[in-house]
Amino acid sequence: MNHSRDWSRRSFLQWSGTIAAMHMASYHVLAQNDTSQARPEPLIDCHQHINHFERSIDDTIRHMDATGAEKAFILPLETGEGGVTLRSETVLHAFHNYRDRIIPFCQTDVRKDDCLQRIHAYHTLGCRGIGEQKEHLPLSDPRVEAVIAVCNDLNWPITMHFEDGPNGFNMGLAESLENYLRKYKQVRIIGHAQTWWANISSEVPLPSQSLYPTGPVKAGGLLDRLLSEYPNLYADLSAGSGYNALTRDEEFTVKFFERHPRQLIFGSDCPCRDGHGQNFDGVCYSQQLQTLVKRLVPDRDRRHRIFYQNAIDALNGHA
Ligand SMILES: [Zn+2]
Ligand SMILES: [Zn+2]
Repeated sequence: MNHSRDWSRRSFLQWSGTIAAMHMASYHVLAQNDTSQARPEPLIDCHQHINHFERSIDDTIRHMDATGAEKAFILPLETGEGGVTLRSETVLHAFHNYRDRIIPFCQTDVRKDDCLQRIHAYHTLGCRGIGEQKEHLPLSDPRVEAVIAVCNDLNWPITMHFEDGPNGFNMGLAESLENYLRKYKQVRIIGHAQTWWANISSEVPLPSQSLYPTGPVKAGGLLDRLLSEYPNLYADLSAGSGYNALTRDEEFTVKFFERHPRQLIFGSDCPCRDGHGQNFDGVCYSQQLQTLVKRLVPDRDRRHRIFYQNAIDALNGHA
């Protein structure tokens, strides 16, 4: 046996093995980089309805497909007081057709005597929360408190539309919300709509002046304080009100996202037909908000909480 040849063969094998390992390592780095760019990010839409612009159940699923939403909280609006009527039964029907896609919520008229009884029935039938709670009543109304208390007992979330003014919904956020957060520790209250988002700033105009305030946010707003003090409070980023609040002062928004990593939930409330703005002036709230969040929150893990995990936590509650 020729020792030197044996040595060189062995060292060739070692050398080529090293090269191969280097190739593999660089391949993995490339592959990781590539997939982090291209791999779709799991998404839950925490705020979706069915009947906007006569959108059918199948249209709503197509909207989810087009916007990359794996699942959506589907929120009925039984009284129709916000302009759209969607029955809890329709949401349950949709859930039976699309069990992997739809997370059904329920909502009934709190002024009717059978309200709490029906909520318990919807719980038995598979509903996972109450919302959208949107009726022309002050937030302090005992009937509104009664549904918050039921959610607390059932370990449920409740999505609430907060809009002050003479024709508002759950009026009196600044005066009444904290009492509930203090009193009911188990329910997850998910805040949504104009007055909720106006309180991102410590300067809140009267509703008669503006429900969509613009311009720089003044630090020290009610939302920052309540989200910091109450882990069972969540913010639903959906709709024009959410987008307006998050874009009026992006420097503030970047820090707002950093301060509340576990309580901000992606949602669209998008009424468009096809997930590309059809019937809605070419705007899709879901696509628009996804683009914004990706730009302002470059870290994929932090985004995953907003796009997915915080919705799951709000749904299941805190261990
Ligand atoms: Zn809505
Ligand atoms: Zn859309």
